[in-house]
Amino acid sequence: MLIVQKYGGTSVGTLERIANVAQRVIETKNDGNKVIVVVSAMSGETNKLVDFAHHFSKTPATRDMDILLSSGERVTAALLSIALQEKGYKAVALTGRQAGIITDNSFTKARIDRIDTSYMQKLVDDDCIVVVAGFQGITEDGSVTTLGRGGSDLTAVAIAGAIEAELCEIFTDVDGVYTTDPRIEPKAKKLDMVSYDEMLELASLGAKVLQNRSVELAKKLNVNLVTRNSFNNNQGTLITKEENIMEKPIVSGIALDKNQARVSVINVDDKPGIAANIFRKLAEENINVDMIVQTVGHDGKTDIDFTVPESELERTKIVMGKLSDSYKNVEYDASIAKVSIVGVGMKSHSGVASKAFDTMAKENINIVMISTSEIKISMVIDSKYSELAVRTLHEAYELDK
Ligand code: ASP
Ligand code: MG
Repeated sequence: MLIVQKYGGTSVGTLERIANVAQRVIETKNDGNKVIVVVSAMSGETNKLVDFAHHFSKTPATRDMDILLSSGERVTAALLSIALQEKGYKAVALTGRQAGIITDNSFTKARIDRIDTSYMQKLVDDDCIVVVAGFQGITEDGSVTTLGRGGSDLTAVAIAGAIEAELCEIFTDVDGVYTTDPRIEPKAKKLDMVSYDEMLELASLGAKVLQNRSVELAKKLNVNLVTRNSFNNNQGTLITKEENIMEKPIVSGIALDKNQARVSVINVDDKPGIAANIFRKLAEENINVDMIVQTVGHDGKTDIDFTVPESELERTKIVMGKLSDSYKNVEYDASIAKVSIVGVGMKSHSGVASKAFDTMAKENINIVMISTSEIKISMVIDSKYSELAVRTLHEAYELDK
């Protein structure tokens, strides 16, 4: 079969590690597969290049940044290809342009418009191992672009989708996706399979194994993704469409997001346009609102609570301060955490939410806000209880079994 493999920065962090990657690629090839490899820059390299640019300017031209940053991935691609050839295999390194990756012209955060796979296809048909420099492309008129930090995942998924590879394996330094952060709960278990939608929830909630955009793209292009550890032979986690998952667990994982802040707008008029006004102003400032809760009004007044990323709290305060007097009673709390229970099976099961609330009650943890979607229950709590909440929920849903 045709497999796209992507190796992240730590997996290619030293010359020995690149040799180790070459060995893995060769094994995949020897198993009778055709292989396209996408590589990241050696770990720390992209940051180093960013720092170099900042030595000269606080606001370097993004067009030049992309010439600079795309070089890190080229180094690894070339070295891996050379290592493969030395072992007697046909290999060729390609830049984003040579791989036919056409993007828009938003430098440093370009989006892939299309991939002309004809050259890669020809090489693969020729039994050649194709090594592509990740994280980069080219605009219609020939400028080099990069895809945003962590963008090599996106390169791999986009190529797998365009060339209709059977599998896209993303190699990192962890075994896969876990039921929760193993640093918080050592009993966390690696998941064998998880659906795209669950992965998106788990990732955006802090389980940062894969770049979110790449999971969204995998879902759109129907790419079977596997995250694996490049330092062992463990099986990894398959991220696939829900229909492929036979036994749908009710709860797949517990995610924690400590980087949220709560904003409460107290005693505003309960009339049309009040919420619209707040959230329009926040949207104009590109502030990313997450949970929103409004209760039924009493005596013509109501409260509106919402959360924003902690890093955007100061800007939120400025926006709120500019609103009219009818919004002057505002409270802020940065010491909150959002704990979420994620699972596709909860669509068809009852009692999942009540178990979460029971668990919090038994530990005497107060729930400040609650929100739900089809596959997720999120609770905002005082952040000092976040680890305790994660561990007790993990146990309550028997995720350690
Ligand atoms: N080297 C780039 C970064 O560090 C892209 C990647 O590794 O995926 O963001
Ligand atoms: Mg990465």
